[in-house]
Amino acid sequence: MAERRLAVRSGIGYDSHRFAPGGPLILGGVRIPSDVHLHGHSDGDAAAHAITDAILGAAALGDIGEMFADTDAANAGRDSIEMLSLANGRLASNGWRVAQVDVVVIAETPRIATHRDAMRDRVASALGIARDDVSIKGKTNESMGFVGRGEGIACIATATIVAA
Ligand code: MG
Repeated sequence: MAERRLAVRSGIGYDSHRFAPGGPLILGGVRIPSDVHLHGHSDGDAAAHAITDAILGAAALGDIGEMFADTDAANAGRDSIEMLSLANGRLASNGWRVAQVDVVVIAETPRIATHRDAMRDRVASALGIARDDVSIKGKTNESMGFVGRGEGIACIATATIVAA
């Protein structure tokens, strides 16, 4: 293993998915009653994908697309919280553990606050950390752009990892 300069590192992840007809909408590992879902090769969970990229990025271990190719039928409709857990295992194998994550969900709907704690619990469980180590915040896009037009959802996540 290469020599490290820091025992604490941070990473950032971003993802967006478009809405498609028919619910439920899966976000942060929570099935939200809705008449639309997030279109994607997996279950479309943009929040889980952004967090996965944030933790992989912090460890410089590539990205979610490398780990879970969208050309692989095994990843079709896949549970993104399971993918997050597998990425977390990859960090552990490389001597890292996640200390905390912070997520912004940018969406006109659904309202995130209603589902925040359920999402925090799902993400915390996948990462083997406490709910208090997972922050999830909702923002609208003030009716601007693709989010503002209600075409989909964007998520930004940061992660702090520490040497295990
Ligand atoms: Mg994605």
